[in-house]
Amino acid sequence: MPEPAQALLPSAGAFPADPAGLLELDRRHVWHPYGPMPGTTDPLVVESASGVRLRLAEPVEGVAELVDGMSSWWAAVHGYRHPVLDEAVRDQLGRMSHVMFGGLTHEPAVRLATRLVELAPEGLEHVFLADSGSVSVEVAAKMCLQYWRSLGRPEKHRLMTWRGGYHGDTWQPMSVCDPEGGMHDLWSGVLPRQVFADAPPDGFGTPPSEAYTAHLWETVERHAHELAAVVVEPVVQGAGGMRFHSPALLRVLREACDAHGVLLVFDEIATGFGRTGAFFAAGHAGVSPDVMCVGKALTGGYLTLAATLCTGRVAAGIARGEVPVLAHGPTFMGNPLACAAANASLDLLTGQDWQEEVARISAGLRASLAPAAGLPGVADVRVLGAIGVVQLDHPVDVAAASRAAVREGVWLRPFRDLVYTMPPYVTGDADVARIGRAVCAAAGAG
Ligand SMILES: *Cc1c(COP(=O)(O)O)cnc(C)c1O
Repeated sequence: MPEPAQALLPSAGAFPADPAGLLELDRRHVWHPYGPMPGTTDPLVVESASGVRLRLAEPVEGVAELVDGMSSWWAAVHGYRHPVLDEAVRDQLGRMSHVMFGGLTHEPAVRLATRLVELAPEGLEHVFLADSGSVSVEVAAKMCLQYWRSLGRPEKHRLMTWRGGYHGDTWQPMSVCDPEGGMHDLWSGVLPRQVFADAPPDGFGTPPSEAYTAHLWETVERHAHELAAVVVEPVVQGAGGMRFHSPALLRVLREACDAHGVLLVFDEIATGFGRTGAFFAAGHAGVSPDVMCVGKALTGGYLTLAATLCTGRVAAGIARGEVPVLAHGPTFMGNPLACAAANASLDLLTGQDWQEEVARISAGLRASLAPAAGLPGVADVRVLGAIGVVQLDHPVDVAAASRAAVREGVWLRPFRDLVYTMPPYVTGDADVARIGRAVCAAAGAG
């Protein structure tokens, strides 16, 4: 029997507790992503972060500072405590940290929406600000379903995607995640049943086969009468398996959707803001979706914020309905602090040669991950933009692999059969090389 939790609660004055005390409380009270309760593994306690380094509350394996190979899950593209981002948030804090968005508006949100429209693929004109990536995907689904409902076609309510995807952890997003990775068996009977095409063939540079192209086309055609939209991650499937595919497939989807009256949604939450070498991954294909989701790096990793963009056609369709409004409005919609961080992050990104930085990191990862190809147990090594992936032929031992990376002074978070990295764009060459060594060490250890 565990002791009653109360016995362990320190008085408010006792915080910050020592790392061991924090871990004890963490294990008992705090859920972590995809974690059990109570916790079974000890997370590392981070005391602060600056530049590309995370400072630990106490050294682990003799290491007190870790180079961040994860950008806090794709988000922290400018690193931590960036003076420009810090200043933007402080400045906004001096005006207001939040006001409701119903009946009120403010400069940070209007500026951000305008900026996103300028930067987004052609045709995306309207912006719904959401509080997380998953919510932005929920909103995208609602927009598409409501579009058809408003046009008198309520039977067009299903979504189609391809296997291997990841779109978030709330209900609609989960229903278009890969059925295995998304634990559809656990939720069978309750999760909306969507239409799945086979996973896109591997390889950014691999031209799509006629057979796969035909399969995609046929799947859209066969289900068009019941499909509201096709939802995919363009070019890179992230948390679903870190797989890359040919941009030409996005053109196939665009044509199939146009031919059969289905909307096309690109989930750019992971791929957006330069990560794959194009500002949006859709740019590799020269294709515009009808709806696009962004998140993760939107605020440079400072605060949670996402957005769903749509075309004039989608907005006008919704407006024609019996219920002419988009019935969605999160309490913290358009949060000014988050919008201020996002505006500063976009200014930073577009005010520099981000393509050069991403290309530099890409080259560094290619060189430093090359040795992994010769390691036993390694199935594939691939790099696209500032994303490096080593795929094993077995499930990774996450604890052993993470430890091996820590010994190299690097923070990595492997999953399934993957040891991967997407470093902040400000990572210097020596640190990129260090991350590469750590990925190889983790792949060898895990
Ligand atoms: C992370 C992610 C999401 C979910 O975003 P959250 O902010 O975690 O809700 C959705 N789609 C993709 C492609 C993602 O990488």
